[in-house]
Amino acid sequence: MPQRIGVMGGTFDPIHNGHLVAASEVQSKFGLDLVVFVPTGEPWQKRGRTVSAAEDRYLMTVIATAANPRFEVSRVDIDRDGATYAIDTLHDLRADYPDAELFFITGMDALAKIFTWRDVEDLFELAHFIGCTRPGYVLDEAELARFPQNRISILEIPALAISSSDCRARKLRGEPVWYLVPDGVVQYISKHNLYTEKVDS
Ligand code: ATP
Ligand code: MG
Repeated sequence: MPQRIGVMGGTFDPIHNGHLVAASEVQSKFGLDLVVFVPTGEPWQKRGRTVSAAEDRYLMTVIATAANPRFEVSRVDIDRDGATYAIDTLHDLRADYPDAELFFITGMDALAKIFTWRDVEDLFELAHFIGCTRPGYVLDEAELARFPQNRISILEIPALAISSSDCRARKLRGEPVWYLVPDGVVQYISKHNLYTEKVDS
């Protein structure tokens, strides 16, 4: 049997329990051997916002996933120069796991934007897509019909209305992020004084 590998790309600024529950749920429902978390590279602008250093986002992702034997973190996107495109992520992971079946995991918000991504047709060749439900985002039937039906699955996951944006906004206001992100990530954020300055332009 070929290995079944989930790929969860994200900015992870910071990684939070919404990401972890989604990955864990997909791992179990699709019988994946591994879920590889892939933090995006830098320099990178997200909606005009400067994203935290790749190394900080990478380390928080490692801390958050360390206890789960089915979770791993890949540096492919942070070690590649320039903007991150899912097509490059999947090509690199295909090279790392040549015989594996790849499952690309996204939330519904990311799934809705997929047709704006580079080389979208090739993406569906490289991986099966799994869209996880996320509070506040729905995809209607017409949007779903655009996907190659044998290459996409939608998975209902326990709803967690958590976002990295909200975690950052909380830190800025001096509010807690306990229980929204893993304990080690709370401590990493404090130790490195992340999200204490307003960086949105
Ligand atoms: P930001 O608010 O900065 O955009 P985010 O919380 O959306 O952060 P990302 O790093 O952008 O986190 O997301 C990485 C992936 O995880 C995306 O595919 C996104 O849809 C998915 N995701 C994030 N939060 C959740 C959640 N609470 N439930 C399900 N999927 C999620
Ligand atoms: Mg997002």
